[in-house]
Amino acid sequence: MRLLIFGPQGVGKGTQAAMLAPHWGIPHISTGDLFRANISADTFLGKQAKDALAAGELVPDSITQGMLAERLNEPDARSGFLLDGFPRTPEQAEWLEQMIAGTPGLDAVVLLTAPNDVLIGRAVARGRFDDEIEAIERRLALYHQFTEPLLRFYGDLVESIDGNRSVELVHQNIIGRIGDRTAVH
Ligand code: AMP
Repeated sequence: MRLLIFGPQGVGKGTQAAMLAPHWGIPHISTGDLFRANISADTFLGKQAKDALAAGELVPDSITQGMLAERLNEPDARSGFLLDGFPRTPEQAEWLEQMIAGTPGLDAVVLLTAPNDVLIGRAVARGRFDDEIEAIERRLALYHQFTEPLLRFYGDLVESIDGNRSVELVHQNIIGRIGDRTAVH
């Protein structure tokens, strides 16, 4: 099972992804989490990414893609993955197509939605080091500008789910919708 999860920050992507990955026995691969782990461990990659994260800007593709290629080549990701936070731009989507060429391809793209005021409130409450209000607003703007248009690229693969409900309801809704979809194949 190869899945992407999309949605603006604060919509509950990370929470849902962490519940969904064990359900399907696939790794949850979050580029944001990988960056934050590198920053905490003060690695070379972490040093290169730190300023972009703090400002809510995108880390350059060469760095992000190098890091992700390494992760996708690990044995646990060979037969499936749930990708969270990537792709964020058309260029990244094209790159991912190349990366998974020769596999059966993506099964579905989960899109979580919620109104903007709910999103900002949730992101502020999270209190991560990269959750200053300016960075939150910048990430939301980048999401609408570059990431949202990507949904057209994925077309029929997209399952849009209302993320403005309880964690458990959203979880069950995603499992039902993706389960139905993959049963058809
Ligand atoms: P997230 O945890 O997905 O909100 O990502 C946190 C931050 O990590 C983003 O604001 C970016 O600075 C960086 N980041 C995560 N994924 C990507 C990506 N696909 N491309 C570039 N930067 C990214």
